[in-house]
Amino acid sequence: MENYVKLYSPLTNFKIKGVAKKTLEKLNNVGIDTLYDLLYYFPRAYEDRTNLKNIVNLKDDEFAVVRGRVLSLVNRKFGYKKMMTVARISDGSGIMECVWFNLPQIKYTMTVDAEYYFIGKIKKKRLPQIITPEYKLIKRDAGGSSVDNTRNSGGISNSDGNREELYVDGILEGIVPIYSLTKGISQGKLRSIIRNTVDSYSVYLKENIPDVIRKKYKMLERVEAVKKIHFPKSSKDIEDAKQRFAVEELLVLMFGILEKKYALTSALGGQKVFELQDNKTLVKKYLSNLKFDLTRAQKKVISEIYSDLNSGKICNRLLQGDVGSGKTVVAMVILLYMIENSYQGAIMAPTEILATQHYLSVRKVFEELGVKVGFLSGSVKGKARKEVLEELSNGTIDLIVGTHALIEDSVVFKKLGLIVIDEQHRFGVEQRNKIRAKGEVSNLLVMSATPIPRSLALSIYGDLDVSIIDEYPAGRIPIRTKWLRDKSDIDKAISYTRSLLKAGQQVYVVAPLIEESEKMDLMSVAELHSEIEGMFSDYRVGVLHGKLKNSEKDGVMNAFKENRIQILVSTTVVEVGVDVPNATVMVICSAERFGLSALHQLRGRVGRGQKASSCFLISETDNENSTKRLNILEETIDGFKIAEEDLKLRNTGELFGTKQSGVSDMKFVNLVHDIKTIKLAREVATRYLEDNLGTIGNPYMRYDIDIKFSKNES
Ligand code: ADP
Ligand code: MG
Repeated sequence: MENYVKLYSPLTNFKIKGVAKKTLEKLNNVGIDTLYDLLYYFPRAYEDRTNLKNIVNLKDDEFAVVRGRVLSLVNRKFGYKKMMTVARISDGSGIMECVWFNLPQIKYTMTVDAEYYFIGKIKKKRLPQIITPEYKLIKRDAGGSSVDNTRNSGGISNSDGNREELYVDGILEGIVPIYSLTKGISQGKLRSIIRNTVDSYSVYLKENIPDVIRKKYKMLERVEAVKKIHFPKSSKDIEDAKQRFAVEELLVLMFGILEKKYALTSALGGQKVFELQDNKTLVKKYLSNLKFDLTRAQKKVISEIYSDLNSGKICNRLLQGDVGSGKTVVAMVILLYMIENSYQGAIMAPTEILATQHYLSVRKVFEELGVKVGFLSGSVKGKARKEVLEELSNGTIDLIVGTHALIEDSVVFKKLGLIVIDEQHRFGVEQRNKIRAKGEVSNLLVMSATPIPRSLALSIYGDLDVSIIDEYPAGRIPIRTKWLRDKSDIDKAISYTRSLLKAGQQVYVVAPLIEESEKMDLMSVAELHSEIEGMFSDYRVGVLHGKLKNSEKDGVMNAFKENRIQILVSTTVVEVGVDVPNATVMVICSAERFGLSALHQLRGRVGRGQKASSCFLISETDNENSTKRLNILEETIDGFKIAEEDLKLRNTGELFGTKQSGVSDMKFVNLVHDIKTIKLAREVATRYLEDNLGTIGNPYMRYDIDIKFSKNES
């Protein structure tokens, strides 16, 4: 264990053959601080140098080694103060060119008529070409005569500014690793640093994958894998090693997440075992009161949750469904089932507006069923608050709807059985656990309209099981989305909108938040408000922004809901969960300022009823990324597809906050695409924990988990 811990100590503590301390310090620039970092600094690519080719047979884009004689060598000026060096090479089968940019000294270090190996990627131009090849002298005089001064070249700068040595020992030996470089360390130097480090220190790398798992899946042993990934003999070596490291990385993540889940949901975790009666009288009544039938997807998810609950297992589930897919009904059914079994329920929403909206719609329906509903948020104060708290602790309230206020210590339940968190992405893991701790049994259902690919969901919300509603209620007409690029587009959209208003429908207009200045933000919303009032003087226009008091926001929102306001101008506070089926037009100003997911969420505010809906994106952008985003929105309303595109356009860390669940720093696994490996790792880790009663026997794995998760918490 002692040596294992050393893996994570600074590299400069170690002596590595032939490497000066200064050189090691330079490695910090590419994030190599510890011995572990260096051993795990895997090649970004490989070059197969066994590929010796005749010039006549060279193919475009292949990596090749050519053995040839230099016919001519010239420096040419081009552009402003730029210089290129061109060497013509012949091997008897044909002629090719080697080209270097801004390295005029090549002309004096290379020798006409000498024979060299030239190594690099082929570009098929008029003649085959290699830009900035590595080269190695074979014979000084292969035809004419010249002095061999190539060995004095030392090092040269290649085109991207790194110093690249021309000579690498063993240059033609098989598959050669290519590392990402830092200033001042050449490819050859880094190769030899890593070679020496692996030779001297890889013994410190103790196997951290439990043997049962490694043997069952025939994975490479750790040191063997490190050797193979740095110095492979075949492409199979690379594949095997990569697979091992992907699983290793995932296991650290999955074990870290799942051991907490195990502790929480297993009977051994101190959880009270609970039993439910299967009458579902309240549920049946509720469903028969609805004006619609449940979709197949809603039914499927409900039965998944029932089966959690009925097996006495703690329900710990993420319910994903695109905006408008009908998650709320699912939550209501489960809540009623628990309430019928004399538990209390809670719904927590991220904003006052959303909580209020839930409260108003739930109260009406539930009180008809004899279920008492309460409301709690920061704005419930004094006597009213005291009363709610009392009714929660004595059990008068069956269902409480609220905001973060529900997490506070003063909130005590008599017998809380299920917590529903709406729009999960606004709550952190900590908040989730805090509210869960209030339950007698901590059943948790978190609902999210941010569709993320299942693989990613399994990792990010690794402690949760995942259910997906992958279907919209019947009869819904897809939202038509149009990007308005200029005045004439906008004019058309305005007259179209006018016709819908005339038909009694309602409109959202969203202005972007300008983060740098709240004042400007307000101004832009206020300006937009008066502009729109002027334009649509026959209609009532309301305005909603972050600076309003909660009661004012509620007032505006309710007026819109009740159609006393026809046009609602707002900043993105309207983003999540708001449900006004009569609103059929969503106009988003400066759409380029929003992220893909945010735009999709906003668009989801319309298209919630039986009428055709439109979303207009106003933007004059010609920025490449923004253009991509707006095009994607025009093309699809599939939230999962959009989420995937979104992930491609930015990285996972950005999307989910760097601290969430330790997923932002995955190095060897792509959380969007490596779905098979992710599922495998999750299954393997789950089974292992079950077989080992929640403990991880391998001390090295244990240590790695602690390191990873302590890093992410700090
Ligand atoms: P979200 O998943 O975005 O939270 P909601 O639960 O708010 O969606 O549902 C959106 C709208 O669809 C609501 O007006 C709801 O009453 C309605 N709805 C839900 N389920 C169905 C269904 N099976 N058939 C028809 N309408 C439904
Ligand atoms: Mg909702």
